[in-house]
Amino acid sequence: MSAAIYLDHFATTPLDQRVLDVMLPYFRDDFGNPSSDGHHIGQRAKQAVEKARDVIRRAVGCESERGVLFTSGATESNNLLIRGLSECIGIPRRHIVVSAIEHKSVLEPINWLSTHGYRVTRLPVDGSGLIDPSLVAKAIAPDTLLVSIMAVNNEVGAIQPLQEIGELVKAHGVLFHCDATQGIGKVPIDMSRCAIDFLSMSAHKIYGPKGVGALCVAHAEPERFLTPQLLGGGQEHGLRSGTLNVPGIVGLAKAIEVTNLEADSESERIRKLRDRLKGRLEATVAGLHINGDPARSIPGALNVSIVGVRSTAILARIQHIAVSGAAACGGQSAKSHVLTAMGLDRERVQSALRFCVGRFNTVGEIDSAVDRIATEVAWIRNQPVFGEAQAS
Ligand code: PMP
Repeated sequence: MSAAIYLDHFATTPLDQRVLDVMLPYFRDDFGNPSSDGHHIGQRAKQAVEKARDVIRRAVGCESERGVLFTSGATESNNLLIRGLSECIGIPRRHIVVSAIEHKSVLEPINWLSTHGYRVTRLPVDGSGLIDPSLVAKAIAPDTLLVSIMAVNNEVGAIQPLQEIGELVKAHGVLFHCDATQGIGKVPIDMSRCAIDFLSMSAHKIYGPKGVGALCVAHAEPERFLTPQLLGGGQEHGLRSGTLNVPGIVGLAKAIEVTNLEADSESERIRKLRDRLKGRLEATVAGLHINGDPARSIPGALNVSIVGVRSTAILARIQHIAVSGAAACGGQSAKSHVLTAMGLDRERVQSALRFCVGRFNTVGEIDSAVDRIATEVAWIRNQPVFGEAQAS
């Protein structure tokens, strides 16, 4: 059995040792509950949480000192914002603008709102997966409550023109949410420069632990905008009850620090690996299409379709190479709403492979992944049932 090669960094990332090292004490000696700070054990946990909050706030340019709310990840952050905002604002704004390629944790709560009295405008994207800012401006109506646009797409890696969109949204006096889960550390994200009111993030996409994230709110009193979705002990200004995940929070802050510190050199290295992957796949696999535009995507991203070879067929034969056919959350059999919104036909969507190169990949891994994929594509194409299967 060959060694595993992980090329699925959109789905999740391995924990960085430096992140694990700072987390470990908070599982053992400093295990306190930050809300129980009448003694030094609780106080130490509280200090660690407040320090992490400050690191995160500065890393994303969140001007509100009370603006960082810890959650269990980006799904919860997106739900807290969308559902919390819709239940809180006592003004008759019932229109939401969203891109067609958002993550399901944005689209599903918005779909729910659309069955509860909200109008929703879903913005199209071009063939590269990019949103045209002028369409955002056109979509905004007098009753628009929120515009929600992701920083970086999690299937093709398209980098959205956040600053331009943010300025337009702001000029119309509308609130702006950015799901920055795939953008942190990959593209510069500054809430105040991009006029972002609410920003979602998740630690496990940036070499941090799973099960922790944050919703950052640019306003001094986040409770003016949000209704809590979890009620209980009143943690996080009453907006997110539940004992804080101290090791996770410390890990999230460290993951952001490391990611931002190394962003330039890491991007350069990863881009070279991604370009090598792309070049070698193009040279060895006939009928390869590139989905989206790698030049306008984050450095590690590559989404391809191999003519006539369904992604399920190739994935079944390259088990030790971790790539995916669709976003992890949709399951491998789900049809990609992102590629479909980009105008790709059914066959191309069904044969899509999503790669994302990451921090610990090597040239050797890229080369052996390509060799193996080329061999397996040739094998599949040589099967007598191949023609029949494709005709079905
Ligand atoms: N938004 C985006 C863009 C994502 O890629 C993901 C994870 N696939 C999420 C939100 C959900 O994040 P989490 O796993 O932390 O709930």
